[in-house]
Amino acid sequence: MILETFPVGPLQCNCTLMGDEEAGEAIVIDPGDEVTRIHRRITEHGLKLKQILVTHAHIDHVGGALKLKRLTGAPIYLNENDLPLLDMMASQAAWLGIPTPETAPPDEPLTDGLSVGLSSYPAQVLHTPGHTQGSICLHFVPLKMVIAGDTLFAGSIGRTDLPGGNFEQIMDSIHSRLLALPDQTKVLPGHGPATTIGAERKKNPFLRLQ
Ligand SMILES: [Zn+2]
Repeated sequence: MILETFPVGPLQCNCTLMGDEEAGEAIVIDPGDEVTRIHRRITEHGLKLKQILVTHAHIDHVGGALKLKRLTGAPIYLNENDLPLLDMMASQAAWLGIPTPETAPPDEPLTDGLSVGLSSYPAQVLHTPGHTQGSICLHFVPLKMVIAGDTLFAGSIGRTDLPGGNFEQIMDSIHSRLLALPDQTKVLPGHGPATTIGAERKKNPFLRLQ
């Protein structure tokens, strides 16, 4: 299995490339920026991109999705509760002072419970609203790994002061969906270093408040 996570763009969003060399297929999660670099990695591995999965529609996570789709033909998956944020791409770009990337509605909705990913390494979609209304996490059950978007970070949680954010909701999402996973589950957050569910359960100051 190929598993590469690398930060892209000015906000250093963690983009993940997962590939199955035998099947010759790959998926990309959160191609926020630096699409040429992402595409080059896929090509270097000789893989065909099967899905573009976006954890939520903030510009630093979704900004390069359409460009990557045009280069590869792969469909874009996004939870439909984030469609209003896609429509706000110009204001999102203005907040950061960067050019507005072209976006398009997703090809497929990332609904709770849906199975996505590579056939050898499937992921279950966990709808975890709070950072945004359409925020999702991807639970790769056989790999004991969760891609957490901006819902849970090492030692922190996603901000809830942007449009669509809700503090009670993100706390409920983390407690009911993420902390329900086994302690050894590896967590790849949308920004910063990897962690585990067990480490966050013990040490994350935001999760000790309740
Ligand atoms: Zn975000």
